[in-house]
Amino acid sequence: MIFDRDALPPMDVAGRLGRLRDALAADSAAAGTDALLVGNLTNVRYLTGFTGSAALLLVTPSDTVFVTDGRYKDRAAAELDAAGVPATLEVVNDAEATVVEHVARLGLRAVGLEADTVTWSTQRRLAAALDKGAGGCEAVPTTAVVETLRLTKDAGEVARIRAAAAIADRALDTVRRRLLDGLTESEFAAELDATMRHLGADDLSFETIVASGPNGARPHHTPSDRQIAQGDLVVIDFGALVDGYHSDMTRTLGVGTLDEERRHMLDVVLASQAAGVAAVTSGVDCATVDKACRDLIEEAGMGDAFLHSTGHGVGLDIHEEPRVSSRSTATLRPGHVVTVEPGVYLTGIGGVRIEDTVLVTEGGCERLTLAPKDPMVV
Ligand code: ZN
Ligand code: ZN
Repeated sequence: MIFDRDALPPMDVAGRLGRLRDALAADSAAAGTDALLVGNLTNVRYLTGFTGSAALLLVTPSDTVFVTDGRYKDRAAAELDAAGVPATLEVVNDAEATVVEHVARLGLRAVGLEADTVTWSTQRRLAAALDKGAGGCEAVPTTAVVETLRLTKDAGEVARIRAAAAIADRALDTVRRRLLDGLTESEFAAELDATMRHLGADDLSFETIVASGPNGARPHHTPSDRQIAQGDLVVIDFGALVDGYHSDMTRTLGVGTLDEERRHMLDVVLASQAAGVAAVTSGVDCATVDKACRDLIEEAGMGDAFLHSTGHGVGLDIHEEPRVSSRSTATLRPGHVVTVEPGVYLTGIGGVRIEDTVLVTEGGCERLTLAPKDPMVV
């Protein structure tokens, strides 16, 4: 354990429902409804602190109704209480019917559903039930209402991401020389994963990627029984989870000595990634950060080998808003946490990706992932 869990600053969970109500009151956010039915469990966790796997949360201007089933009776009460979130707690078998009863009781005329989460069949069922059971109440599609609140991390959230990143930094530092020992990708990944858990990670942030030699040409390679060899580039993409918050970091390491072509790939991506991090500051468009990375790789004649977008938000989800891509319309603000992770991938040769998770600040950004980028392991 390399951090004191009890010393993590508290998160302002209780303040989030107020901010959600403000957002709902502004018409554009929720298509004219001031009540939202939250079914995305990550959003439920963000708003209430609840960590279970079954919940519906109805938020209206005056009421908060939390509906779960018997498995979570005590846990829901305890977690909402710990977060300081007052709500009417319903423990029932038919969550949707209970929601409809409350909508009818409150006389709501329209309820927003999370269009990016609700399935087609659920939408049809809920819309019919609200129409019939709640006096013609309308189900209205909403997009990214809670996700927009989640963009800006509070101090407690940043502390958790920082702790997760520190675990990943230390874990790589602990195991990196094992690349010289002829392990397979899977064996190296298992050592890295076990080290993160040993250092205090609740879990892995996602399935660790270890892609050596030609396997590096696949950005999302699954660790295999290929033996890591001298002269390989090894792409290692991994992270830790702390209290629901993720870290995300990629280092590409060279084992022993690299030939000129591979060393050049590394140098190009290192420069591209540094340019991307340097471009991150409050007020900058995500597309500008993407371009800062892409320009350097294109100038090196490898534009076609940069197969993905530059980055993504990180928080309660490993991939969340804002997306850092050429098509993104988002603008970075203080408190946003994003990755900068350009790469090049050449079939038959290998790949390079360098990734940091950074916190956007007023005058630039702060790197949260701090493992050295010195690529050579000798
Ligand atoms: Zn990653
Ligand atoms: Zn990433």
